[in-house]
Amino acid sequence: MPGRNFLFVPGPSNTPDRIQRAMHRATDDHRSPVFPELTRAILPRLREIFGTENARTFVFPATGSGMWEAALVNTLSTGDRLLAVRGGQFGHLFIDSARRLGYRVDVIETEWGSAAPPDAIEEALRADAAHEIKGVLVVHNETSTGVTSDIAAVRRAIDAAGHPALLYVDGVSSVASLDFRMDEWGVDLAIAGSQKGFMLPAGLGILATSDRALAAREHARSPRAFFDFGPMIQQNDQGYFPYTPPVTLLYGLRESLDMLLEEGLPNVFARHHRLAAACRAAVEAWGLSLCATDPASRSDTVSTVMTPAGIDSGSVITTAYRSYDLSLGAGLGQLGGKAFRIGHLGDLNELMLLGALAGVELTLKNVGVDLILGSGVAAAQKSLGG
Ligand SMILES: *Cc1c(COP(=O)(O)O)cnc(C)c1O
Repeated sequence: MPGRNFLFVPGPSNTPDRIQRAMHRATDDHRSPVFPELTRAILPRLREIFGTENARTFVFPATGSGMWEAALVNTLSTGDRLLAVRGGQFGHLFIDSARRLGYRVDVIETEWGSAAPPDAIEEALRADAAHEIKGVLVVHNETSTGVTSDIAAVRRAIDAAGHPALLYVDGVSSVASLDFRMDEWGVDLAIAGSQKGFMLPAGLGILATSDRALAAREHARSPRAFFDFGPMIQQNDQGYFPYTPPVTLLYGLRESLDMLLEEGLPNVFARHHRLAAACRAAVEAWGLSLCATDPASRSDTVSTVMTPAGIDSGSVITTAYRSYDLSLGAGLGQLGGKAFRIGHLGDLNELMLLGALAGVELTLKNVGVDLILGSGVAAAQKSLGG
């Protein structure tokens, strides 16, 4: 098909030309005397993106899921007890990873489409008077439902219970797109990946760790090898990596940090909010509902749209792709067939979004949704200042 694919899945996101050019180069010697310049242009600058002054940052050849594992095995011992919230597919997979790695996980089940409940977290931690629970696992932005949870409120709940558990936050679809305040929220392990807010291809797991998390490592006994922080810290401090790093992606990450910091993080967050609000206006104009029930927790990086009864969301996604070269996200887990997702994160502007919304609108009409062509696009234009 001529023209460009419209990539509106919530990850991978578009890779800007600038980042593509930064990665288009011959492979470097990762043991050269000048290699540390690259490492040092990345690891300390990642702190700003995570909202932290001093946290140690890591970059592993992996993806976001790999960072769930890295966060857990470096800070826990096999058999340790954890508390986790499950309100969507990524929460589910995080819990599943923890269980397969040998941890015992108490699960707080929430309605898919609602945010992590601080009250239930506080209650569960108060009930653990012996402080057996070593960590609380929460997804900041649940990419399956399009819900952003209030991590500050989760921190307040943990503090109110007077509980010492570490706070593990999956920020894979929020970090670098949404305001993330690791220090202020007392996040101990903040998890991200390269292919969402960082606008890179998949292949890097990105992690930030508090002093408490690093202290927990001293007595954590879980087996770990590839993801062991120890050799990584030792080598990173010299500007190197313990094994061959994906150098091309590191050049891309350096460029990504340049772009994010040049635009300015407050501007990046405001842009995501503006585009998300326009997308939500379109959905409302079509007469469809979002999976996220509480307007206050609707995500600025992804909108999960429920399809009307009798319409398979799979047909929306297939039609959009085949007819218009528009990639939308599928309904995941229990939302399979019932919802589709519009990703609006990363390297995106007003007209790209309007183009995608025009495509969604046309697709919905094609598959039999009763709507007025132009209604969603007009609502989005109005939201953008028309
Ligand atoms: C995409 C995503 C993941 C998984 O990341 P991979 O890079 O695909 O391993 C985990 N959590 C959330 C919230 C995500 O959006």
